Amino acid sequence: ENMECCVIGLGTMGASLARNAARRGARVVIYNRSPERGEEFVRKYRHEGNFLPVHQLEDLKTSMATPRLIIVMVTAGDAIDAINDSLLPILDPGDIVVDGGNSNYRDTERRIAKMSQRGIHFVGMGVSGGEEGALLGPSMMPGGDPATWARCSALLTSMAADDGVGGKCACYCGPGGAGHFVKVTHNGIEYAIMQSLAEGYDILRKVGGLTPSQLHEVFTQWNAEGSILRSFLVEITAAIFSVRDTETPNMLVDMIRPHAEQKGTGYWTVEASLHYGAPAPTIAAALFARFLSGAKELRAHNNLAVPHPTDHIEWGTPAMSVFLRQVRSTVELSTIMSYIQGFEILKAASNAEHWNIPLAEIARIWRGGCIIRSALLPIFQKAFVTTEGRDWMSDDLKHLFTDELLDGARRTLSLATLNGIPVAALSASLSYYDSICEPNLPQNLVQAQRDCFGAHTYGRIDKPETEKFHTQWIPSQL
Ligand code: NDP
Repeated sequence: ENMECCVIGLGTMGASLARNAARRGARVVIYNRSPERGEEFVRKYRHEGNFLPVHQLEDLKTSMATPRLIIVMVTAGDAIDAINDSLLPILDPGDIVVDGGNSNYRDTERRIAKMSQRGIHFVGMGVSGGEEGALLGPSMMPGGDPATWARCSALLTSMAADDGVGGKCACYCGPGGAGHFVKVTHNGIEYAIMQSLAEGYDILRKVGGLTPSQLHEVFTQWNAEGSILRSFLVEITAAIFSVRDTETPNMLVDMIRPHAEQKGTGYWTVEASLHYGAPAPTIAAALFARFLSGAKELRAHNNLAVPHPTDHIEWGTPAMSVFLRQVRSTVELSTIMSYIQGFEILKAASNAEHWNIPLAEIARIWRGGCIIRSALLPIFQKAFVTTEGRDWMSDDLKHLFTDELLDGARRTLSLATLNGIPVAALSASLSYYDSICEPNLPQNLVQAQRDCFGAHTYGRIDKPETEKFHTQWIPSQL
């Protein structure tokens, strides 16, 4: 098997992946556009493994045996095209280029086609886990030609995280851009869960009056063994609440400007939701919440209108434990809905693009290494194994939706609304749940309106679905 690779781009992710590959015993050729970063890497990590720095890409011709495995880990976008253009005259047919960045799946498909004209195989591979994951074991989501993946999977799979049940967090996701699509959807779910946690935090501090150290305690409980919220994101959130500012007596989280930035993967997930017709209101609410948090002009002069809670619930009282349980239920429901919406996008895209994405396997490779790893993923994996995810209210998941959970969510969201706390993601999740469970939605009225003003026709509940009707609802003015 190919135990030699080249890593192009030694930024946060590339440096970690290069070290990871070297730790697996690979000979790692390394290249970075700006030589300083390459030199810094060599200075810091030379002793860790078998690294061969090259100063220009042409050197790959002589410094690697064919077929070559090149892992590109650079800023997504034009940089990938620039690197591909430089590699085309250098590489030989049969060589493999793996783009491990957060590329758009359409770009990946265009790049596969371009590189294949010279017989070069291009793999679009999503990598999740941040800097530490990339070093110790990320979750890897490769797509493209299955035979190409088979040829480079040995080294890459050995670098991936353990899934906790004897496997590795890497699996072939499907042809074309399927791998990058799966990674983008992973990030969309990540946006939704992060926003749900942020809204839960907002309720806890504004209605419950919790201090950072109390928040640390609550999130630590949410992350306890056996909790369905147990996850990497809840774990780091608990840790964040205990970090002090070094400049002031405050906790650091209280000193951070509340304006969330983004790099586009949440946007692409929502775009995919629209394109493939798979509603993802929690993910969309999370994306819009980031935009809204940065809408300076819009928010500048309007910050006096909301009612703020007057008296807080006392810490340590029975009322507080009820309140904490209810907020927790709300966040649990929203986390589950975030995954469901993400999986629905994957299902819809997989059908439309004929990707045949192995959904149970995706749930498995998200169990370790990645940002959305959590105690819920084994449950989703099981749901895909038993029903292929066709029925979210089947036995695998249904036991999660207890009366206590739903009642807690309804009460928390009422409380938040009464107190003027924005809960776009949490309430989108509850409405999503209510929409998929409620047989009697009000879209009969929407159909009547559409037929009334536009003669768009409607179906009747007492006639076959294929039959369409039109009514003259109001006297004609024609
Ligand atoms: P960094 O900003 O840390 O590093 C960027 C790297 O790209 C540098 O090596 C830089 O070289 C190189 N680069 C940028 N433009 C070009 C170009 N035109 N030609 C050649 N090289 C170029 O990025 P990250 O490591 O954080 O991210 C890399 C990819 O991984 C991105 O697609 C990102 O979205 C994705 N990703 C990042 C994660 C993270 O947690 N950071 C997690 C998962 C995926 P130079 O030193 O010369 O500037």
